[in-house]
Amino acid sequence: MNALRIFCLGFCAAVLVVGSVGCGDKTVDDALTSDANGYLCKKCSAKFYLDRKFFPNRCPECKTPNYELVLGFVCPVDKHVTYAGKGRGSHACEQCGKVTSAILIPRAADLKAWGATKKTAAEVLGN
Ligand SMILES: [Zn+2]
Ligand SMILES: [Zn+2]
Repeated sequence: MNALRIFCLGFCAAVLVVGSVGCGDKTVDDALTSDANGYLCKKCSAKFYLDRKFFPNRCPECKTPNYELVLGFVCPVDKHVTYAGKGRGSHACEQCGKVTSAILIPRAADLKAWGATKKTAAEVLGN
């Protein structure tokens, strides 16, 4: 759990840097005030999200730890947001194919619209 927290702090700092370069203060505030954490399972493609105070230990569907945090990648041309796991570097816009230029942290409503299902801590904290 400590390692996860340290990871999260480093990650938030990275988003802050990216956000302040690309978008100005308002976007940074918005990007850092999400009410949820979204995840994509790399094994079974399950999309799920949790209250921001929880961190999963496993995918709620296939019970493996092969999930990654989901971020929104913002297209500079049409402002379309492509949601994807954060692990693969830069992403192309799913709408026009341009390389996305900014990152945002999706909120619960965004994750729900994307197709993610809200899970409880009990469903993702297996042991
Ligand atoms: Zn899974
Ligand atoms: Zn686009």
